[in-house]
This record gives sequence, C-alpha cells and structure tokens, in this order.
Amino acid sequence: MTIFFKKQDKVCRFLNPFSGFEPSEAKCQVRWDPLTGRSGRLAHFVGLKPPAADLSQIIEGSKNNCPFCPENLSAMTPKFIKEEISEGRLEKGESVIFPNLMPYDAHSALAVLCQKHYRPLTDFPPQIFSNAFANCLDYLERVISDKARTFGLVTWNYLPAAGSSQVHPHFQVYATETPGNFISTQMAASQTYYRENSRAYWDDYLNAEIQTGERLIKEAGSSVWLTDFVSLSVLTDIIAIFPYKQTLFDLSMEALEETASMLNSLLSYLGKQGIYSLNMAWMPAVEGRPDCWLQLRISPRLYLAPHVWCTETPSLFYQYQESFMVWSPEDTAKDIRASF
Ligand SMILES: [Zn+2]
Repeated sequence: MTIFFKKQDKVCRFLNPFSGFEPSEAKCQVRWDPLTGRSGRLAHFVGLKPPAADLSQIIEGSKNNCPFCPENLSAMTPKFIKEEISEGRLEKGESVIFPNLMPYDAHSALAVLCQKHYRPLTDFPPQIFSNAFANCLDYLERVISDKARTFGLVTWNYLPAAGSSQVHPHFQVYATETPGNFISTQMAASQTYYRENSRAYWDDYLNAEIQTGERLIKEAGSSVWLTDFVSLSVLTDIIAIFPYKQTLFDLSMEALEETASMLNSLLSYLGKQGIYSLNMAWMPAVEGRPDCWLQLRISPRLYLAPHVWCTETPSLFYQYQESFMVWSPEDTAKDIRASF
C-alpha cells in the first residue's frame, strides 16, 4: 500500500513592525504521521540555532554528592533483593544497574552508563552504549518471565532540559505490561494495517522512505536510520528501525554494537550543532507481534531561552500534544548525511 506523507502549507499575514508596518507573511506547515495520523507543525524558515546554555555550575555543583559517581555508588544506591538478582547489582564494563528508588513499575531499575560524571554529546564512545545495552538486556532477561505480555523498556533522559535531575549519564530500564500511550497507539495502528494489508506497515514505510531518500540518514546492517516526518522534538527526531525485530531480546551483540557506533556518530553530530540534552527511548513491541518493528527514537531537547529557563513544551505540545518543529527533518537528514 502507498504510504502517504500528508502535509498542508499555511500562511499567516500581518503588518510587520520591523519593516514600517508593511504587510508581511510567515509560513508554517501541518503534517500528519502516515501510520497514526498524529499531527505536528513545521516552521522550517526559523532554522533555530540552539541557544548555548551555561551548564558549568550544574555540572560542578552536582559532582560532590552524586550517588552515581564511583566513590559513592556502592554506599548510596540500592541493591536488588537476593531472590531477584543475587549479585545485588549488575555490572558490565563501566555500566552498573541497581533498583530505581522511584520505580515506574514492579521491576524498575537505573543503569549508570559510565564512571565519568559528565560527558558532552561529542564524547560518548560506542562501548559505553554497547555495555549498557547488554547490561540492560541481562536485567530484563532476569525479570521478564512472559515476553509475549511484558515490554522491556530502556530510556535515557540526558540533562535537566530532558527531565533528568541527575547530571551523571544513566538509563531507566523497566519491565511493564503498560508501555505508555505512544507505543500503544503505534501498536494498535500497526495491527490494523497488518490486518488490512497482510504485511507490516514498517516494511512499506521503510521502502517509501528509502525510495524518496529525503529523510534517510543511513542503511546500516541491521537497522535503518532516518529523521521523523513528524518529530516530537522542536528540532528533529532521529529514529532507527530494526526490520523484522520486535524486542531488544531479538538483537544480536553485533546489532547492539552497530547501534552503539551509530549513536556515537549521531550524538557527535548533535553536539557539534550546540545540542547538549536529549531523550532517547527504545520502542519495542512484545514477542509474537510481526506487525510491529523495534525502533529507537532520539529527541534532542533544549531550553529555548536558557537565561529565563524557557522550555520548549508550551501548551501546544504539553496539553494539545501537537509538536512544533523548527528544524526541517529533510534538511537535517541531508546535513547529517553530509557530516557522515
Ligand atoms: Zn556523578
């Protein structure tokens, strides 16, 4: 079935005080996600350069009592109960996993990524991610008994603009039967598409994206990387799709290492654009759902005006749940391709 990237241009006219109140106009565009119909807006003419935020005080001020720094971790972080994980904590490379004191579900943990308290986005070597992903998989493998009902979720909120109270890089990793509205909506729409077309939406979607090439970043060995037609971020979302895979358990170590290497390159790119904060989330289905393909989504975050702590989540986004992009996904993909 043809995948339709629906968009509609809008023009707003006004008398401009910066040109003697001459008639002026500004354009924006409404877009709809081809699968779910989720809408979002694009004001690509803005071409916002992320305003620099001075993080030095936050980084320095949080070092002393950081529970995730190596000298504090064993005394300040909880341990798993023996019946669950007899070692108390799980370690792989520099990654350490322990229970989350503010759990999201019955099995809810944090994964510290590295020993360093702070890393700019340009300094995340691939092995930090591959070790952390493998460690998260080990944890999820131990706490999930029914892979057909339970989602293994791994997310990353990096720095306060992305909703993290800790500077020290760490993932949230948890098992749940209720994966949240975004995944649930995508799964329901994927199921409908599969029933109606006898094939996975994601297969047709990737073919359409590869054919136009407008938002394509790279076809890697086990994943395809692109920018999202309707991003959540005010900049642009980068997504990876893993064909024919449903969950993190389906990924080989080779696929995790490839993902880690792509993350290293993409975060470097984002860091060089002045981005310092992001959300990242694995979007899995559950076992036995060939209609859904595993995804990884990166949403850059920022303060629109750091000097007054202005976030990029006004009513439009937070309450109407309508994203507003100021970076064109097509231009961004082109720029990332050139940087590779
Ligand atoms: Zn620390």
